[in-house]
Amino acid sequence: MIEKTELFTRSIGTETDVVSKEMYTFVDKGEDSVTLRPEGTAGVVRAFVEHGVAQTDPKTRWWYLGPMFRRERPQKGRYRQFWQLGAEAFGQGSARVDAEMLAMLRDLFEACALPGVAFHVASIGDAKCRPAYKAKLQEFLRGRADRLCEDCARRIETNPLRVLDCKKEGCRAATQDAPRLMAHLCDECRAHFEELRRSLDLLKVAYEVDDRIVRGLDYYVRTTFELLHTGEGLGSQNAVGGGGRYDGLVQDLGGPPVPGVGFALGMERLVLALEARGAAVKAGPDAFLAPMGAAAVERAMVLARELRTAGLRVDMDYDGKKLGKTLERADKAGARAAVILGEDELARGEAKVKTLATGEETFVPLADLATALQR
Ligand SMILES: [Zn+2]
Ligand SMILES: [Zn+2]
Repeated sequence: MIEKTELFTRSIGTETDVVSKEMYTFVDKGEDSVTLRPEGTAGVVRAFVEHGVAQTDPKTRWWYLGPMFRRERPQKGRYRQFWQLGAEAFGQGSARVDAEMLAMLRDLFEACALPGVAFHVASIGDAKCRPAYKAKLQEFLRGRADRLCEDCARRIETNPLRVLDCKKEGCRAATQDAPRLMAHLCDECRAHFEELRRSLDLLKVAYEVDDRIVRGLDYYVRTTFELLHTGEGLGSQNAVGGGGRYDGLVQDLGGPPVPGVGFALGMERLVLALEARGAAVKAGPDAFLAPMGAAAVERAMVLARELRTAGLRVDMDYDGKKLGKTLERADKAGARAAVILGEDELARGEAKVKTLATGEETFVPLADLATALQR
């Protein structure tokens, strides 16, 4: 979660918003400048280089899930600590690998029953074709500096590609007819992008070519993509994920020339999107034990432990008095079932299992409880 600051300035780039404004950076014991990671790829590449993976496993796939940190104005769908799920594939430069990642993402959204995600793809060129385009874009932007917002006017000299990414109405209008990178790709980048398109068609992954995509990180080359949620629930923060190719990054960070491609998904935004379409995202306990009476509480304590060992999520009430109140708590906790342990039930070696969604009640022998409560 904590890396040396230098890792991010070298990989993400100092002229990006992430590095210039959004990182939590501090000095550790007066020696190293360290930073709470604002994204996952740089750290994965750092580990890849540090452990010499290119020598032992030249073609590998990695994944991560964890918190990232950015100093931003918190709002719905944007948090200073947020979770990302990501994957990276090292050692293969083919656009077919990029297509495979996008197909995997499409399958993931389908498995989540979240069909309303648009895949925007583009190529942002490489070190061969981007510099000439950048110069051309700068020339165009200098002629319109007075129509751009303050940030964009400054970006003309520092990071002109980002101007195309500005969401402000004035900037969008001023750059409507700006030269586009997609029209200035070198032959190799163009062939790479055509292969991506062919592969996506082969795998039947729907996508749109979006020549305004500019990822906010400097390390991307060629394939870049954004995953935009088109349904309700996210408002303006509708990007649920994105990624792309970073073929020079391993070398930039001290490793051999190994290509790489990856993506990251924002978990909080995914959850908001799922909630908006009514999916039950909150995972309550599988069972809430409701013992009645002191003896039943003791029996329930042992039972709770057995059920947890069997892999079930279990909560319980320790008062053992008011059944109505306990059932209310079970309901509020989002429990799937309440397990009622009264004197009569215990005398028979049973529990009354109430499915809270339906109100259906059945008597289950205590020995069979774990099996009966499995989904
Ligand atoms: Zn702007
Ligand atoms: Zn190129």
